[in-house]
Amino acid sequence: MKGLVWIVGAGPGDPELITLKGLRLLSEADLVVYAGSLINPEILRHCKEDAQVLDSSKMTLEEQVRVMADRAGKGLKVVRLHTGDPSLYGAIGEQIRALEALGVQCRIVPGVSSLQGAAAALGIEYTVPGVTQTLVCTRLPGRTPVPPKEDLRVYASTGATLALFLSSNMGDEAAKLCMEGGLSPDTPAAWVYRATWPDQRVGRARLGELGQRMKAEHVSHQALIIVGRCLEESRSSLLYDPAFTHMYRKPGHRDPEGDGN
Ligand code: SAH
Repeated sequence: MKGLVWIVGAGPGDPELITLKGLRLLSEADLVVYAGSLINPEILRHCKEDAQVLDSSKMTLEEQVRVMADRAGKGLKVVRLHTGDPSLYGAIGEQIRALEALGVQCRIVPGVSSLQGAAAALGIEYTVPGVTQTLVCTRLPGRTPVPPKEDLRVYASTGATLALFLSSNMGDEAAKLCMEGGLSPDTPAAWVYRATWPDQRVGRARLGELGQRMKAEHVSHQALIIVGRCLEESRSSLLYDPAFTHMYRKPGHRDPEGDGN
C-alpha cells in the first residue's frame, strides 16, 4: 500500500458546514488540494501552519494526482477538498482511478451539498406528503453530455421536485424543457445563488418567467434551480399525524406538553 488520500466534502460555502471528521482531517493534513473557485477560503484557516495548500484550479489533473500520490506515498496526510458533497458532480472518479493505479487508496468523507444548502435557504422540504416523494438531481447538457434517456422533459412529466445543477446560465432552456414535459407555466420555481455564503441570494418565479427573471437578476453561475410544487405546498407531514404509527410513537400519542399538537 502506497498511502491514502482523503476526499473530503467541504460543504456549500458556510465554513461551519463541514463535518467534524472533515475538519479534523483538514487540520491534520500535510497537503491540501482544494477547488479554488468554489471552496470558501475561510475553511483553509484550519490547515496546519506548515501545510502545503494548493489550488486545483491552477493545476492539471495529472499534476494534482502526482503531488497527492507523492505525499501519500511518503506517509503524509493528504486531503482533497471538494465543494459540497463529493458524490454530486464531483468528478472524483477520474482522480480515484488515477490514484489507485499508483497504488494509493482513497477514502471519501461526505459533505453538506448545495442541494441541502438551497433547501435551507428556501425554508422548504423537497419531499412533501401528498405532493411529491421524489427529488431528481439533474442538469442540462454542457461540456458533459446528459444521456438522452435522462432528458429533463421526462423528469418534469412526473411532477417530482427538480434540482438543476450546473445549469443556472440556462434558466430559459430549463424552463422551456420543463413546460414541454408537461409542467404548467404557473409551476413554482426558484434559484439559490451561492447558498450559505454571506452573499447568498434567493429568488422565486413562476416557471413561465424563470429564465427572464434569472437574467434580470444576473444569476448565471454558482446557483441551483429548483422546480416543483414543494416550493409552495407545506402540508404537515404524515409522520406528525397522530393516527400514523411510528416506530417510537404509538397511535393516540399525546404531546407531553398537553396542547394536542
Ligand atoms: N458537489 C457539489 C456540486 C458541484 S457541481 C455539491 O454537492 O454542491 C457545481 C454546481 O453546484 C454549480 O454549478 C451549482 O449549480 C451548484 N452549486 C455549488 N455550490 C453552490 C452553492 N453554494 N449555491 C448554489 N449552487 C451551488
